[in-house]
Amino acid sequence: MDKKGKVYIIGAGPGDWELISIKALNRLKEADVILYDFLASKELLRLAKKGAQIICVGKSDGLHLKEQNEINKLLFKEAKNGKIVARLKGGDPFVFSRGIEEILYLKKKRIDFEIIPGITSAFAAPESFGIPLTRKGIFSSIAVLTGKKSNGKGIDAPACDTLIYLMAVGNINEVVRVILKSGRPRSTLCAFIERATTKEERIVTGNLGNIIEKSRKFSVCAPAVFIVGRIINYGKRIYGHKYQNR
Ligand code: SAH
Repeated sequence: MDKKGKVYIIGAGPGDWELISIKALNRLKEADVILYDFLASKELLRLAKKGAQIICVGKSDGLHLKEQNEINKLLFKEAKNGKIVARLKGGDPFVFSRGIEEILYLKKKRIDFEIIPGITSAFAAPESFGIPLTRKGIFSSIAVLTGKKSNGKGIDAPACDTLIYLMAVGNINEVVRVILKSGRPRSTLCAFIERATTKEERIVTGNLGNIIEKSRKFSVCAPAVFIVGRIINYGKRIYGHKYQNR
C-alpha cells in the first residue's frame, strides 16, 4: 500500500525557537517537507531531517512569496504524494494566521492533518517583559485584536482591561484614534513590544497621547505587539532594567 501523507499545522512559537512544543519539534524532525513563514524561527529549520525539502512560503506583513491558495495546493500535493508535511507558522497557527483556511482545504480534499498549537506572540510578548495577562481581582479581561483592516472592516477597541493588537505598527495612527474614541483617556498606558523573545527584543512604552511620536522616535518596526492598559505597570516593577530610556 502507498505511504499515506499527512500535514501537521505547527505553531513555531513567537521567536525564541526553544518555545516550540516537544510534540511540534518531534513532528518537524520527521517531516519530509517543511513549509515555513518568515516569522518562524530559522534555528528550527536546522533540525529538519537530512534530505527534507524546505520551502519558504514567506508570509509577513505585506509580503507574500506565495498566495494562500498556492500554499493550500502545495500542502495538498505533497501530502497526496505520501509525504509527511510540516506547515510551520509563527506563534500559534490559528491566531491571525491562516491555519484554519489550510485545514478547511485539506479537509475538503480528504487529506489527513493534525493541529499542533503554538505560543502566540500576543501572550509571549507582554510576558517576556514581565507584563502578566491577568491578575486576580484586578485585571480580568484581555482582547487580542488586529491593527490592520481587512475586508473593509474597521479596527476594534472593545471595553476590557487590556487590549493587545497584532500588526498595528503600520496603522498606529488609526489604532490610537479608535482607542481614544472608545472613551479611554490620552494618559492610558501603552507599549510596543518588538521582536519579543529574541535577542533583539525591546519595549517602547508611553501613553495614548505620545505613543505615535515615540514609535517614530525609536523607529518601531514589525513584528511588534501593541499593548494597552494599566497592567503594563507590572513590567517596570518586575524587569525595570529592560525598560531603560523608554
Ligand atoms: N500567528 C502569529 C501572529 C501572526 S500575525 C502569532 O500567534 O504570534 C503577525 C503579527 O504577529 C506581527 O505583525 C506582530 O504583531 C506579531 N508578532 C509575531 N511575532 C512577534 C514577535 N516576536 N514579537 C512581537 N510581535 C510579534
